[in-house]
Amino acid sequence: MHSLRNNLAPEREVPAEGDAARTGAVRRLDGLRFEPKLESEYRLHMRADQQTSTLVCLVTALGIWLVFIGLDFTRLDGWAALAAGDLDVAVAIALRLATLAALLIPICMLATERLPRADHRLSMLVLALIGGTCAFIANMFKLRGLPQADIAQLVIIAAVFLPLGLTFLQSFGVALFIAVFTTGLGFAMLGEPAHLIEHGRLSVLLFFAVFVSAVGAWLRERAQRDQFLLRRLLHDRAMSDSLTGIANRRGFEEHAVSALQQARRDGVPVVFAILDVDHFKRYNDYYGHQAGDAALTLIAHAIAAAGWRPMDMAGRLGGEEFGLLLYDATSEKGAARLEGLVAAVEELAIEHAASPTTSHLTVSLGAAAFDGRESAAELYRRADAALYAGKALGRNRVEFSPSSRQAAFLAEARRRA
Ligand code: GH3
Ligand code: MG
Ligand code: MG
Repeated sequence: MHSLRNNLAPEREVPAEGDAARTGAVRRLDGLRFEPKLESEYRLHMRADQQTSTLVCLVTALGIWLVFIGLDFTRLDGWAALAAGDLDVAVAIALRLATLAALLIPICMLATERLPRADHRLSMLVLALIGGTCAFIANMFKLRGLPQADIAQLVIIAAVFLPLGLTFLQSFGVALFIAVFTTGLGFAMLGEPAHLIEHGRLSVLLFFAVFVSAVGAWLRERAQRDQFLLRRLLHDRAMSDSLTGIANRRGFEEHAVSALQQARRDGVPVVFAILDVDHFKRYNDYYGHQAGDAALTLIAHAIAAAGWRPMDMAGRLGGEEFGLLLYDATSEKGAARLEGLVAAVEELAIEHAASPTTSHLTVSLGAAAFDGRESAAELYRRADAALYAGKALGRNRVEFSPSSRQAAFLAEARRRA
């Protein structure tokens, strides 16, 4: 059934207030990560949320990078050094240009909204390249006695934790890499004791910067994740029925409208049905409202257990009425599945001594096959008319709306395909 998380397994999915385990929010060792399914949902949400900030950060980095390419070239007298076969200058320029290219790729992808799923790896690579290149160039300037600002590595480490669509652990990994690489490269490239002492001091500062930035980022991500859970919980609550735990009318209708749009676009058959409990007023009058509520919950559970597929949906429309949407189901297949549901409710064998038709609770269903054009409201009207006819014909049955143009719609879709 469709991803509205609470429409099928009420006792498992509708969380008690503050109960982290039941929201799937069990935190792992790092105190942040959720269980895998929720984690990937969070990451998708977070990346989509941070697309604009990522683009702004990367464009800013691009601007700064271009300025530094110009500065390096002037200060190192680039053309002359290249002509003289200066290997260090060639490496520096190659690194600057490679980083420039690596920066341009995610910027283009973000600007054209064509992001691959693994875009975070690209951001991590860009950050690592920026850190590595700056470390190399600072050492080179130092060796040549030119003024340099190796302290800028601290700014780069802080920038790694900006909202770039990376999780805390990903940012932390890159920041640590930059600190370790800068430290190692410095000790490898710089020979003079004075340089080495200065570099040792810088290295200590770098690790401090990683630590301080990481603490801030960890706290920020924890707050972000809590907010994500809260929003998800509120959405689930707003879309689910408090008595039965399955989707409520709003959740059902929201999904029905988008499923019908998709079915229209893709030429997929859909069966829409309304399920109504038979003689339920008499049941309430005879057994009391509380028993009525319990019976409704049992019926909702039987509906939820009826073998739904990802785009299917069931919801409580109100009172003792439920809406059902069977995606990719022809009238014949849909009818068979709905008959199964009628039988499943009968099998519950809920006694109904006040019923004039049977000795136990039964349900009637009115169904209509989507004709490819009508709105959800029109489909509802047809299913409701069929339900009315089913009630008149004796209840405990499935009645299909006779005016289905599903066959013509499917033939048309096949022709288009
Ligand atoms: P029919 O077979 O024609 O559908 O008869 P019916 O008695 O089921 O139909 P009707 O629409 O007259 O009655 C519906 C009843 O459902 C009225 C009300 O007592 C009961 N009902 C509606 N919502 C709830 C609810 O949330 N809990 C309980 N216990 N009963 C409800
Ligand atoms: Mg009714
Ligand atoms: Mg009824």
